[in-house]
Amino acid sequence: MRQYFRNIFDTVRTIAIGMGITLKYCFAKTVTVQYPDMAPVIQPRFRGFHWFEAEKCIACDQCAKACPVDCIYIEKSGPRKIDKATGVAVGGALTRYAIDYAKCMFCALCCEPCPTDCIHMGNNHDLSAYTRKDMIVEFTELAREGKQTPEPIWMQRDELPEWAARRKAEWMSRAAPAREHMLKALEPSDVGKKAEKEAAAT
Ligand code: SF4
Ligand code: SF4
Repeated sequence: MRQYFRNIFDTVRTIAIGMGITLKYCFAKTVTVQYPDMAPVIQPRFRGFHWFEAEKCIACDQCAKACPVDCIYIEKSGPRKIDKATGVAVGGALTRYAIDYAKCMFCALCCEPCPTDCIHMGNNHDLSAYTRKDMIVEFTELAREGKQTPEPIWMQRDELPEWAARRKAEWMSRAAPAREHMLKALEPSDVGKKAEKEAAAT
């Protein structure tokens, strides 16, 4: 009997707590952020579209294997490894590194096993697209343009709100020091060319 009344009490109490929270928000001031004219608030540990450093990627597939939805696609022309002298990857070309954001669930499980710490969750939250195919981001193509994270389509306009222009410039300047190495990652290095010749000769 005691348990019976206890259950009734708990039910009423939890409903009252829930309704209290609902009522609080019913009378709270509504806040509408006029995005993209106003900047969205991005928390420091926000998991947005990836930040990928092609120049450090050894195309080991660890990230793709860890991905629970198989949305990372990696292709290379030969084995790659980190050159200890420069800290960048050498060997075969990284011919494709792509992520299908129609499938990605932003779990960050791909970032954990990366042996060279070259794939991270970025701070871009916006990647609208017109087709499902456009949701596949080709990071190797971005690397060709000196970018390490995708931009929202609307950020390609000339006139941008001040916060967006600043963020775009931040992304470009963060990637700029690696630009030369990013381009090299897309072609086989001398080590990779030698290995390819040896493989062809055998
Ligand atoms: S964040 Fe998760 S779902 Fe997205 S690519 Fe990485 S492992 Fe896959
Ligand atoms: S991003 Fe990291 S884990 Fe994925 S293939 Fe490149 S080096 Fe390997």
